[in-house]
Amino acid sequence: MSTKLESMRPQSWQGVDDIVIIGGGLAGLFCALKLAPRPVTVLAAAPIGQGASSAWAQGGIAAAMSPGDTFDKHLADTLAAGAGIVDERIARLMISEGPDRIRDLLGYGVPFDRDLEGQLLLSREAAHSERRIVRVKGDQAGRAIMEALIATVRKTPSIRVMEGYVVEELVAEGRFVSGVIARPDAGQSKTRVAFPARAVVLCSGGIGHLYQVTTNPAEARGAGLGMAAKAGAMIADAEFVQYHPTAIDIGQDPAPLATEALRGDGAILINRAGHRFMTDLHADAELAPRDIVARGVFAEVKAGRGAFLDCTKAVGAHFPDLFPTVYASCMAAGIDPVTQPIPVVPAVHYHMGGVLVDADGKTTVDGLWAAGEVTSTGVHGANRLASNSLLEAVVFAARIAENIKGMLPESSLYEWPKDAGENDELVTLEDSAELKALRRGMSAHAGVIRDAEGLKDLIREIVRLEGINKRVRFSNMATAAKLIATAALKREESRGGHYRSDFPEPVEALRHRTFMTLKDAERIAAEIAG
Ligand SMILES: Cc1cc2nc3c(=O)[nH]c(=O)nc-3n(C[C@H](O)[C@H](O)[C@H](O)COP(=O)(O)OP(=O)(O)OC[C@H]3O[C@@H](n4cnc5c(N)ncnc54)[C@H](O)[C@@H]3O)c2cc1C
Repeated sequence: MSTKLESMRPQSWQGVDDIVIIGGGLAGLFCALKLAPRPVTVLAAAPIGQGASSAWAQGGIAAAMSPGDTFDKHLADTLAAGAGIVDERIARLMISEGPDRIRDLLGYGVPFDRDLEGQLLLSREAAHSERRIVRVKGDQAGRAIMEALIATVRKTPSIRVMEGYVVEELVAEGRFVSGVIARPDAGQSKTRVAFPARAVVLCSGGIGHLYQVTTNPAEARGAGLGMAAKAGAMIADAEFVQYHPTAIDIGQDPAPLATEALRGDGAILINRAGHRFMTDLHADAELAPRDIVARGVFAEVKAGRGAFLDCTKAVGAHFPDLFPTVYASCMAAGIDPVTQPIPVVPAVHYHMGGVLVDADGKTTVDGLWAAGEVTSTGVHGANRLASNSLLEAVVFAARIAENIKGMLPESSLYEWPKDAGENDELVTLEDSAELKALRRGMSAHAGVIRDAEGLKDLIREIVRLEGINKRVRFSNMATAAKLIATAALKREESRGGHYRSDFPEPVEALRHRTFMTLKDAERIAAEIAG
């Protein structure tokens, strides 16, 4: 082991167990807490609380806990949103364990809103037939949940948190993952560090930053999906991506949201000519399902007519008081939403597909478990029901903890993290021409509206970019992009978050999930790229 590593090793590294969790969002931290007092190491690309979608969640967590609600009703809503391909058994399991996980969160100190009698205050959201969303101070759920969990994690001596460690590779020996290689200093260090582990839990979040416009933090860039696929894990339903229809189009990355509540309050969508285009597309106009509104907005933007959320009449002078966050974003960009329409564009928001896991969060590769947005458990099908994703993160993180505790003996101490050698590849990705081209291509061809020609162009472009930029972090992203693009090409129908203009209807024979390895994706890509 190198002297350098020896000298930087804190005392607290001694006697650490061999469970490594990748990611410090809700899934990662909840799993670490559920494993306590077993020692675990959490590796997070950014300081915990930052660089995680979990902290940005505005709605809350869905759980059937109100007197009029039942697991069956929550299941029915989940099945309807998922457009025919939800795994009913797994969804039922998630829903039935929801209330217990909410009680766990309360135990960790999450200050969920309560009524005057001290009962949990449950709100209703679009596509939920009952009031079942637990929230914190209206739209503060994500931040409050993460603050409570972080405080508990910091007080839990068995959890070692390594912040600023960007994991670049899963070390695979045959069909067994035996550790990870990470780059410290927010991924800027030349030295890489290996963490040998007998259990690796992947909780690295989503894929938003594979696209030009997204609501996700920069760390949600598909790295976990790419790394797991490279280690041989089966990937499921990669083609299903959910878009938020009204991100504010002011060139910010990530894009701020113009919340759906604005449309709920009567704001309308118009193009540059002032035409209210959603009335042409759906009887519910602006309140049509998310994917339909996203396609309407996308079509106007693509045709060069622009799309704008006009709140001047419906909200007007009340804007600063009612929607202070949106107001601040607009004003910072020189748009006064009290008097001016807000330019909007659809933004990638959530990935339904991901690393295939079973009911215990086990992937198809030994030694590798996964939880949260990086996974495909089957509960979302082709479209996620709002507020089911935080629920999925906690339910499966808890199941993983139980599974690992049952499988690995208590006393497994691991070797010290090992120096994985210097590697002076240029690590800054943000301004690389290949990354920009990848994100541009994904938005243009694997976005809200897809077709075979566009997807084939994109696949050829991904292969070309991989040939130019061979850095491991870019390769992880390109791998994730390739899985999404090839899965989208293969699904010759439209369903949920996946819309093909050349196959605009659902096809009954295709009403099933899709499963794909990286080898499958590469074979398809090779056929197209020639
Ligand atoms: C704006 C917004 C609002 C949302 N609102 C809701 C809502 O109200 N209700 C709901 O249910 N869902 C909501 N979602 C979705 C939900 O927030 C996410 O699906 C969920 O938080 C994912 O949790 P996670 O732990 O899997 O990932 P994250 O919380 O994104 O955490 C991922 C972690 O992995 C780390 N990481 C990533 N790559 C690496 C790497 N290579 N090495 C080391 N660490 C890495 C990240 O830094 C982070 O710590 C929202 C999402 C967004 C973006």
